[in-house]
Amino acid sequence: MSNTETKDVPYKPTSPNSKLDFASVWEYAPAPQDSDFAEVKEKYDLFIDGKFVKPSKGRYFKSTNPANEEVITEFAEATQKDVDKAVKAARKAFEGEWSRISAKERGKYIYRIARMIQERAREFAILESMDGGKPIRESRDVDIPLVAAYFFYYAGWADKLEYAFPGKQPEPLGVCGQIIPWNFPLLMLAWKIAPALATGNTVVLKPAETTSLTALKFAELVKDCGLPDGVVNIVTGAGQTGAEIVNHKDVDKIAFTGSTKVGKLIQSSLAGTDKKYTLELGGKGAMLIFEDAPIDQAVEGIINAIYFNQGHVCCAGSRLLVQEGIADKVIQKLKDRLATLIVGDPLDKNTDVGAINSKEQFETVNKYLELGVEEGADIYQCDCKVPDNGYFIRPTLFTNVSQSNRIVQEEIFGPVLTVQTFRTAEEGIEKTNNTPYGLANGVWTDKGSKIFKVGSKMRSGVIWANTYNKFDPTSPFGGYKESGVGREGGMHGLAAYIKN
Ligand code: NAP
Ligand code: MG
Repeated sequence: MSNTETKDVPYKPTSPNSKLDFASVWEYAPAPQDSDFAEVKEKYDLFIDGKFVKPSKGRYFKSTNPANEEVITEFAEATQKDVDKAVKAARKAFEGEWSRISAKERGKYIYRIARMIQERAREFAILESMDGGKPIRESRDVDIPLVAAYFFYYAGWADKLEYAFPGKQPEPLGVCGQIIPWNFPLLMLAWKIAPALATGNTVVLKPAETTSLTALKFAELVKDCGLPDGVVNIVTGAGQTGAEIVNHKDVDKIAFTGSTKVGKLIQSSLAGTDKKYTLELGGKGAMLIFEDAPIDQAVEGIINAIYFNQGHVCCAGSRLLVQEGIADKVIQKLKDRLATLIVGDPLDKNTDVGAINSKEQFETVNKYLELGVEEGADIYQCDCKVPDNGYFIRPTLFTNVSQSNRIVQEEIFGPVLTVQTFRTAEEGIEKTNNTPYGLANGVWTDKGSKIFKVGSKMRSGVIWANTYNKFDPTSPFGGYKESGVGREGGMHGLAAYIKN
């Protein structure tokens, strides 16, 4: 329906209690983000020692746009030889020019990176949405501003490390191997590179196979900002390229963000070596909504907690635990809100929920939807329109689930919420903690003392109160149990990059 047509159709409720019929009455006109100015090359080489270089075996792999299944570009596949070259470049820079630069100058480089990201923010946002499927509203308003914020924050620490670690002479570790996932490509790069550079290390980073584009755009920015050669090296490739970094003898630290399965593999490869490591792994966050909670705000918070970035969020609030007395009300309000979400083109400024990141993940989430039904849960999906092409899944909620169901215990990493009830705070806490993970949880209540009482018993690195999915560079982030080891962000994030 076009704009002119909607003008002629004033909204008329059919009965005093009728709900707004968004689908037929209030359709938004398309508002596509102009993407022509975001330059994408046909092919990207590896970024080693300040130059773009061809991969040793000459192999490239395709990267697609998950919203339309079209090939965007090709990335180079880095072999062991290429990784070795990158590590050597990082070592040379660490022992050479980078170590001779004063901490103040180091900070200036990081500030420059932050400012250049702000200058090119729109281009980064567009490419992030094209390559990974996330709505432009999120990449523009959340991802890229946070990327700049992390670089600004750590730039400030570069010449103040003695204050961060009083009584110590903080020394960098050396060459850091960094491996990141596909859900927040540039943001995870920032979480890794900013603290490593602020503390005087050099890095070899591998982005995820399906979302390497913004990392290579970042490499162009690194070149433009004049950072000494070899301080930042970007090698693209599959899991094997990541394994070559992990197993390289001259790497001093591994910083990994990804699945618990690969995290465990990495941990066993590192056993017996003196490499330091941080592992930021999976999660299955719970949100406890008490009867005294401000329900409308809580519903808005739940929507953001699970459907933000299509639910591809390690700390997503993927389990809702609602106190029995308000369960029906909360579920109805959630269903009403789901009906208003716009699923579709990530580059449309109206889109709330974009495309699932890859075909593989699309299949995984669909398997969990089938599994939930097999396990006896009731599935609810809004009947919103979804595009014919591309990997789209309607925001989903499952009710009538039990604690032992696999959809309650396992990380789905998609727009899928399970809903359970509880009677007492003790029962809520017990259910919250009863998964193998412990990354993030949330609590909604009007009572401050309840937040502290319940929060102190939740076993997770992050606890949000009356909000969810809020990030800040000053705040540490990390997991308990199978959600990982170590912390990133804030001063804790600096500690992970200096010698004890
Ligand atoms: P993944 O399969 O573990 O992959 C993560 C990264 O590791 C990718 O770059 C991947 O390369 C690489 N990799 C794969 N196999 C490897 C190996 N044997 N050795 C070294 N590197 C290897 O995870 P994902 O599917 O990309 O990401 C989703 C997961 O990340 C979820 O479980 C999510 O919870 C977690 N995550 C955690 C946090 C946190 O802070 N705790 C934040 C974001 C995401 P390829 O891309 O080529 O496979
Ligand atoms: Mg892609």
